[in-house]
Amino acid sequence: MARLVLKFGGTSVADIDRIRNVARHVKREVDAGHQVAVVVSAMAGKTNELVAWTREASPMHDAREYDAVVASGEQVTAGLLAITLQGMGVEARSWLGWQIPIRTNNAHGSARIEEIDGSELIRRFDLDQVAVIAGFQGIGPDNRIATLGRGGSDTTAVALAAAIQADRCDIYTDVDGVYTTDPRIEPKARRLDRIAFEEMLEMASLGAKVLQVRSVEMAMVNGVKTFVRSSFDDPDAIESGPDASPPGTLICDEDDIVEKEVVTGIAYARDEAQISLRRLPDKPGISAAIFGPLADENVNVDMIVQSVSEDGSRTDMTFTVPDGDVERALKVLKDRRDAIGFEVIQSDKGLVKVSVIGIGMRSHAGVASTAFAALAQRGINIRAITTSEIKFSVLIDSEYTELAVRTLHAAYGLDNVA
Ligand code: ADP
Ligand code: ASP
Ligand code: MG
Repeated sequence: MARLVLKFGGTSVADIDRIRNVARHVKREVDAGHQVAVVVSAMAGKTNELVAWTREASPMHDAREYDAVVASGEQVTAGLLAITLQGMGVEARSWLGWQIPIRTNNAHGSARIEEIDGSELIRRFDLDQVAVIAGFQGIGPDNRIATLGRGGSDTTAVALAAAIQADRCDIYTDVDGVYTTDPRIEPKARRLDRIAFEEMLEMASLGAKVLQVRSVEMAMVNGVKTFVRSSFDDPDAIESGPDASPPGTLICDEDDIVEKEVVTGIAYARDEAQISLRRLPDKPGISAAIFGPLADENVNVDMIVQSVSEDGSRTDMTFTVPDGDVERALKVLKDRRDAIGFEVIQSDKGLVKVSVIGIGMRSHAGVASTAFAALAQRGINIRAITTSEIKFSVLIDSEYTELAVRTLHAAYGLDNVA
């Protein structure tokens, strides 16, 4: 007998038929004798609708009330799945975050899970009860509902798996695993049987939304065996338990991967913006004068490029921020124009960051130059570049997104040739 956490995303619970299908997956594991906790997302599109309503009600709304509204989508699905399971003769009970409780910090809208008390769920496993848990939510120190940021049900599932020491956390979604790039953009993308925690963390933070970044962090820190698989498989035609290996991707330690590639995947993130400050005095403290106030205003600065004039007296500073932060960033900088000393400030919205990820980059030189040559050949202009140990990113204009992703996918030999 094993203990399992199964998580089902929005598309997998989009209507009652799909919820019934999910219930059959759950029943398969229960019938095989396993203890099961299920984490569900809101029905597809629901969270977007709820978010839009809060904005329509008031653009400057209170984050605690935003959480009260957007957490409701998961409540509906948890109840519906419990009802469906009961109808199939499975003893099931729904749980909201606060009922478990899942304790979070006070960062409403993107709260972090701090503690989960799994004791009551474990007690009920012994009574053969299945727990159906509303993902994406917990309870903050202010005793109010707190949500975990978009895609947060993944994090609920992995955190819960760590708390109740589950043998595996199965993330059921609308693709049958983690691919070398988003299969919606590149049909030649290949499914990875395994991907290392570090690589998955980079893929997720650089835009691959198949798993929320924090869920990967949580899995890595707690050593949670996490498996990404499809909810559209026939529930009765596959094996059960923590060792079942239907098509899917295991997120695991680097040492557990036998065939290591130099490049594992390509990710992209839209809605990036570029801000350039021109003709700044090139003197100590200039970066602190720019980025200190931006950090104080919670503007998330990502890529930074500095170029210095020939005589070394003037410099240009270019950096990226999320599209949504541009106006705030510009105001912060313009308010400090005299202190910073720039002559011109420019901004461009709607850019895209394309990233190449692979643990093999640690030990291989010249990996990025392949990308620069391939992009140049396609006439794609690179606005900025950043590199780190196991990834590099290029900033490009959004109309080249698909072309750039496909070009790099082919350039690194990732295309499925079958
Ligand atoms: P869920 O609702 O189940 O949480 P998401 O929409 O959040 O599902 O995540 C699944 C989606 O992630 C896929 O439909 C796919 O388009 C996208 N995706 C992006 N990058 C990748 C990748 N490298 N591998 C697999 N899916 C990816
Ligand atoms: N329903 C939430 C969202 O759409 C959480 C999730 O699906 O993981 O972001
Ligand atoms: Mg998701």
